[in-house]
Amino acid sequence: MKCSIRVASIVLLPMGVIEEHGPHLCLATDIYTAHIYCLSAVKKLEDKGLSAIIAPPFYWGICQAGKGFIGSFNIRPDTAKALLFDMLFSLKDFGFKTVFGINSHGDVEHKITAVKAFKDAHEQLQITACFPYDGFMTDFLGFPKDAPYFYKIKESNLQISTARVPDAHAGDIETATINAFYPGLVDTEKAKNLPDVALGDNFEAWMFGGQLKQLSPQGYLGSPANYGNINISQYIEDCAYRISEAILVRLT
Ligand SMILES: [Zn+2]
Repeated sequence: MKCSIRVASIVLLPMGVIEEHGPHLCLATDIYTAHIYCLSAVKKLEDKGLSAIIAPPFYWGICQAGKGFIGSFNIRPDTAKALLFDMLFSLKDFGFKTVFGINSHGDVEHKITAVKAFKDAHEQLQITACFPYDGFMTDFLGFPKDAPYFYKIKESNLQISTARVPDAHAGDIETATINAFYPGLVDTEKAKNLPDVALGDNFEAWMFGGQLKQLSPQGYLGSPANYGNINISQYIEDCAYRISEAILVRLT
């Protein structure tokens, strides 16, 4: 029997990956983070009179940048794309016609694969299926910026971290986020004792080709020890605000 509740609602689809996150964080850090964004964004949308629900997560994304570690599952792009498309197909079958991906995994290959699935869903299923165009590496993906399968999230003006080394992977912001919402999934004693690891000029090489093991044998890039200095409620508030505003703009 088909679900008939709130079929007019929009759906937020949390998207991430299962991959290693250093010796101190859980493998599902990205997908928990996407879910946290969704929880807060739903409230913001409801404040604006828009009903939204959260779908079960898509977590079999692609870890090109963090491959080679135990815990970084090697999902092929065709598999990930097919699974994501099938989720979007099912959502349409349930009666939902508007789906926004809420993605917290920045890997380029992951994003390209996800955009392809959203593009196919938008074109073949005739639903509004939108992936975030957030400026973070999205210009590299090779899709037109104004395509209808995107919604545009503005960049943040917040200086959330004062760490000397920015959080590229499992650093202070990710550690603080999981610690605030799922404290049992962080080894804070370990985090406090991890030295900073900088990505430096290797950002593009890392994003496109991995090498995380060579750059950081312990599998993190940033300053996990600084997690206690992050204002996490301000950070989540800012993320949710920018996501919800982008959705409202896309729907008008
Ligand atoms: Zn992460």
